[in-house]
Amino acid sequence: MSGLIRDLLAFDHEICEEQANFQTLPGIGILSEKICVNCRRAFVWRLTEGIDFMTTNYDAIIIGTGQAGPSLAARLAGAGMSVAIIERKLFGGTCVNTGCIPTKTLVASAYAAHMARRGADFGVEIAGAVTVDMRKVKARKDGIVRRSNEGVEKWLKGLNSGTVYKGHARFAGPHTVMINGELLEASKIFINVGARASIPPFPGLESANYLTNSGMMEVDFLPEHLIVVGGSYIGLEFGQMYRRFGSEVTIVEKGPRLINREDEDVSEAVKGILENESINVRLNAECIAMEKRGDRVVVKLDCSTGAREVAGSNLLLAVGRRPNTDDLGLENAGIALDERGYIVVDDQLRTNVPGVWALGDCNGRGAFTHTSYNGYEIVAANLLDNDPRRLSDRIQAYALYIDPPLGRAGMTEAEVRKSGRKALIGKRPMTRVTRAIVKGETQGFMKILVDAETQAILGAAILGPGGDEIIHSILDVMYAKAPYTVIRRAMHIHPTVTELIPTMLGELEPLA
Ligand SMILES: Cc1cc2nc3c(=O)[nH]c(=O)nc-3n(C[C@H](O)[C@H](O)[C@H](O)COP(=O)(O)OP(=O)(O)OC[C@H]3O[C@@H](n4cnc5c(N)ncnc54)[C@H](O)[C@@H]3O)c2cc1C
Repeated sequence: MSGLIRDLLAFDHEICEEQANFQTLPGIGILSEKICVNCRRAFVWRLTEGIDFMTTNYDAIIIGTGQAGPSLAARLAGAGMSVAIIERKLFGGTCVNTGCIPTKTLVASAYAAHMARRGADFGVEIAGAVTVDMRKVKARKDGIVRRSNEGVEKWLKGLNSGTVYKGHARFAGPHTVMINGELLEASKIFINVGARASIPPFPGLESANYLTNSGMMEVDFLPEHLIVVGGSYIGLEFGQMYRRFGSEVTIVEKGPRLINREDEDVSEAVKGILENESINVRLNAECIAMEKRGDRVVVKLDCSTGAREVAGSNLLLAVGRRPNTDDLGLENAGIALDERGYIVVDDQLRTNVPGVWALGDCNGRGAFTHTSYNGYEIVAANLLDNDPRRLSDRIQAYALYIDPPLGRAGMTEAEVRKSGRKALIGKRPMTRVTRAIVKGETQGFMKILVDAETQAILGAAILGPGGDEIIHSILDVMYAKAPYTVIRRAMHIHPTVTELIPTMLGELEPLA
């Protein structure tokens, strides 16, 4: 089908009133790219006026193959729709290629090294020092990632009525998307473009060779001293893993505590776990700046205590994520963003433009693989199953994959206190959990919060062996909207960490 795309020209004029200041960039085919010098608002296309331009129509277009897009593509194609699937780089997105899967694979290698070093604690003797071959560690990680990445690509390319495009997609209008000089049109468009590492303008950063989570995927050597800027989930996982591989590690955090969204007791325990492995934790680093000094990278901290700077061999920036929405041509479609650049969605993940949805990290309503996948389930249920699932049905849940891991569900203690409701709390250290004792892994604790009136479980944190798995036994009872007494009366298996959850619930005390 062909159509005259004169209306694209109109976008140029709508984007910025200072039309005179458009700078034309080198063109591709009949397109030329332009950027507004004044407002720097995205690239725009200018089509040669009067040219007949091919438009390919689909029932649905999916931009990005993160954790929602592929499953949605399969569901829509299975329902008989023609679906265009667009991916600019790596099939499977962040989780598969530079996020969850590779990091947890590396965490597994780090755990093996750690346990080998602890062998003597268990009566296991290893002759000689434990060393880590980083090339083999990376090769194991690459193999697992490759299988996932290729699996996603093959799956999508094999979909009946699915067409895969490789390239960067940009909206040309509310229901048109430009890809590699081709225009695609659909009444339904799903945005699953994810997020990337945020790079704040730290003074001197341009002179320092820094890595992000993506760059870390290529590391096949042992950094002598890795400085991790950012004391949150991603930074802590990399920090502990590299310490276990054998690097000296310093974690620099600008706030007064690590993982500051967690309760203070959780932050404090996690800091202790890291410090027990001789990781340097530098908090209150308010004036972070970088400098290249010979072959060293120096991070200036200006902390209230301790040395004013730290010099290392390598620098990892793990200071948050930003959505991939800035070069998507959203202004051409009139799709609304919030002040942080996330696409605004309603409870069913619909944007303000009818027929356009946003799923996953780009909508700011969760930053995890499971929240993105749950977004797919919500959209598919509403569109195909006449099942009115909602974002607001969700209970917050996630894990921090240091060792021992932290599993979290629902509200924190601080959030419960802030809510002002009458609540009960139970807490138990891992030193009083037999399974943790026999495994020689007694760091951490578990705690649970219960509504004193309704008996509903409000939230829980399990920092200890298997915490990432055990938390689900609590999460599912929360989804069932059952009172805590259901777990209190349950018979759990001995010896497990989970067997102490009923005991902890039998010792609840009022939240003072
Ligand atoms: C180091 C690290 C560890 C993590 N660990 C965990 C974990 O253990 N558990 C967990 O739940 N979460 C984890 N996460 C978060 C998780 O990876 C993301 O939340 C998850 O990948 C969801 O992403 P998504 O579906 O929004 O899109 P993504 O997976 O980010 O994929 C988006 C895709 O869209 C493509 N794209 C972007 N723009 C365009 C465009 N204009 N045109 C075409 N294609 C485009 C990108 O190339 C990408 O492939 C981790 C993240 C990081 C960085």
